Amino acid sequence: MPAIELDDVAVVDNHCHAVQTLQRNDPADFRAYFTESPDPSMRAGAAGETAYYRRLLRAMARFADVEPTEEAVLADRAGKSTDELVARYFADAGIGGLVVDTGFPTPDTALADATFDAASRADRVTLLRLEVEFQELIAEHADYPALLDAVRAATADVRSRGFAGLKSIVAYRTGLAIERWSDDEARASFRAAREEAARTGAVRLGHKPLLDTLLHLAFENAAAQELPLQFHVGYGDPDADLRRAAPLELRAVLEERAYRSMPVVLLHNCWPYFREGAYLASVYPNAWLDVSYGIPFLSTGEMRSMTRAMLGVAPFSKLMYSSDGGRVPEIHWLSAHDGRALLGEVLGELVADGDLDEREARSAGEAILRGNACALYGLEGTRR
Ligand SMILES: [Zn+2]
Repeated sequence: MPAIELDDVAVVDNHCHAVQTLQRNDPADFRAYFTESPDPSMRAGAAGETAYYRRLLRAMARFADVEPTEEAVLADRAGKSTDELVARYFADAGIGGLVVDTGFPTPDTALADATFDAASRADRVTLLRLEVEFQELIAEHADYPALLDAVRAATADVRSRGFAGLKSIVAYRTGLAIERWSDDEARASFRAAREEAARTGAVRLGHKPLLDTLLHLAFENAAAQELPLQFHVGYGDPDADLRRAAPLELRAVLEERAYRSMPVVLLHNCWPYFREGAYLASVYPNAWLDVSYGIPFLSTGEMRSMTRAMLGVAPFSKLMYSSDGGRVPEIHWLSAHDGRALLGEVLGELVADGDLDEREARSAGEAILRGNACALYGLEGTRR
């Protein structure tokens, strides 16, 4: 059945990361960009044995017009500067806009904004990483009520601080089942966090009563500003307990009426819980589902299954394309091509089945690839 043609649509990547200045081209180092495993032997070895990585190498070889081998592709890549790589890939991928999570990689290792913008020619907005902000404020405040005031102040007018939304990695810390705690419990948790900061020089915010309490303050403020909040959900490095990173754990937040004006974006397709994520987007007015074709690193067939499942139940107005690419520009690039192709294919199936007509399918494709994200984050999304 014919696919819906989406090649002319400038994608808006609703969740991605910066590209690093130093690019590694040794096979063992390059493979490590394409796994979430922290294990050195996995990163240098088995990360090269996936369907994703093999597809990537072939796509890179076609684009660079070299032999489809890891050696030839990496030799070609090593001969180009980082901004040249960004410019070539982003132009070829037709990327019109980016929503960048600056929490990773650290800004000191990333291409400077001006250099990146000149090379990518994409419209760009950034997100405020809540846990990073909280950790800094905890280190600065010995007094608990003063910390709460500081968190309220930091999240009171997020757009005026230059951010288009918030990002939370609570799934990686204490899980998505965010609870309400008594003042005594939250204070005890704050004291433990301060002790950790005094002892180790930094705090890694794994103190659940405190983190949950600070998140509620941020949610109240986000709702007042109708500010989108992205949650890491599902697939990620094993630092997150995948059971506690499942989307249904967010029920309390999504049920909270006071937060209904805070758009909640469930990242990474919630993979492997994409059906649950699509369900949430189909019943909660403020739940959006991120449709990423970069991370998780999937085969074409698994991306197709996922796309069918999500488009099978979620409103098209609640789905947003992304790559979750970062460090290297290849993930942003391949994902844009894969996203257009698979959305086009699955929308074509919906037309063949009589679910949609061609005009509706094209309009759903445009909304998922760019329109929904432009509206939610206030982006133009047009290449410069
Ligand atoms: Zn990410």
